[in-house]
Amino acid sequence: MNLAFDVASCVRATSKFSECTKCVQSCPVDTIEIVDNIPSFTPSVCIDCGGCVGICPTEAFSLTNFSTVEFFFELLEEERPLISCKKNIPCIASLSVEHLISLALASSEPIEIDLGHCGACEIKEPLYKQITDSIEEANFVLSSFSDKQILAKEIGYNKEEIEASDEVSSRRDIFSLKNVVKQKQTFDEALVEDEAKLFEIDSAVIAKIKDKNLPNKRKILFTTLKRTQKPKQYEILPQEEVSFVSQKFIDASCTNCQICYRICPTGALSSNGKFSLINFDAMLCVKCHLCHDVCEPNAIGLQDGFETKELFEPSQRTLASFNIKRCNECGGYFTYKGGEKICPRCKLEEDEAIELHRIAKGFSL
Ligand code: SF4
Ligand code: SF4
Ligand code: SF4
Repeated sequence: MNLAFDVASCVRATSKFSECTKCVQSCPVDTIEIVDNIPSFTPSVCIDCGGCVGICPTEAFSLTNFSTVEFFFELLEEERPLISCKKNIPCIASLSVEHLISLALASSEPIEIDLGHCGACEIKEPLYKQITDSIEEANFVLSSFSDKQILAKEIGYNKEEIEASDEVSSRRDIFSLKNVVKQKQTFDEALVEDEAKLFEIDSAVIAKIKDKNLPNKRKILFTTLKRTQKPKQYEILPQEEVSFVSQKFIDASCTNCQICYRICPTGALSSNGKFSLINFDAMLCVKCHLCHDVCEPNAIGLQDGFETKELFEPSQRTLASFNIKRCNECGGYFTYKGGEKICPRCKLEEDEAIELHRIAKGFSL
């Protein structure tokens, strides 16, 4: 079993209000399900295709025998950088849109993707759609600032070619799904793998959740874009055509409850020491939707278009600012709306005390 899950990286572990089900929808054998609000899976059913790895915005899923980071750098060294499930990858779906864009930009040779085996693949659905959607999106984004494209072809990279190359042959041994199944050696191991793997949120997970982390795929994209020539003109892409990054606004219904910027997994949303601002770095956003899911007044919205300028000249924008005052009662800071002298918590306590006093007075009459 090669699928690993880092519960602390999953947005569902960060908040029970998260509605993310991308991994569940991506799994071709329906083994990922949400149990107690956290994804779980049965190792013996999982076929290690990596569809969930490619789709998860925060890289909570990974494969122990396939590193997307190592794959990225190894592919760039190849004379003919070809991505094929019969050559160098468990399934093309394990690569994200960000990986595809980064590969196209970083490679001096055209990146080819072999779709020639997808037609006969038993796990074609829903991965084929995920693959073609990712290629289409990567090419759409690339076309806004570069003439590079990912070339999707029905090559059907074949066995003879694999055996002609020692290096490729050894990789096939690592990635072949059949071999992965054969690696399940002992009966004991098989029994463990038949049990659903459930994940808990313990103190170590909570401590890890508090760290803001940028997924490796975003770090790769950053590095690649830094080395890419800036276009003469920037474009605005429809937000619904870009799945991995976003630009946002916050409307007047925001109460500055602090939840969104405290829980944003990457630090894309942030504040200052007094909590008087909500800042946003578009290029740190992985479009996980968590901030939208937790916002009670629904104050966060997606900007209609994504400005490609952000890819090359990332900026921090202030989406909301607040008048912050010190509470006359507890001395803590609170968001001043006008007229109030104490913070909402002290006000609540004061109201409760008045109510208790009123009830007590009623009893004594
Ligand atoms: S964050 Fe990743 S692991 Fe968590 S529910 Fe979403 S896709 Fe699944
Ligand atoms: S945008 Fe929503 S979640 Fe964020 S501080 Fe405002 S009300 Fe709270
Ligand atoms: S700002 Fe982006 S990364 Fe942060 S919670 Fe919202 S969607 Fe997720």
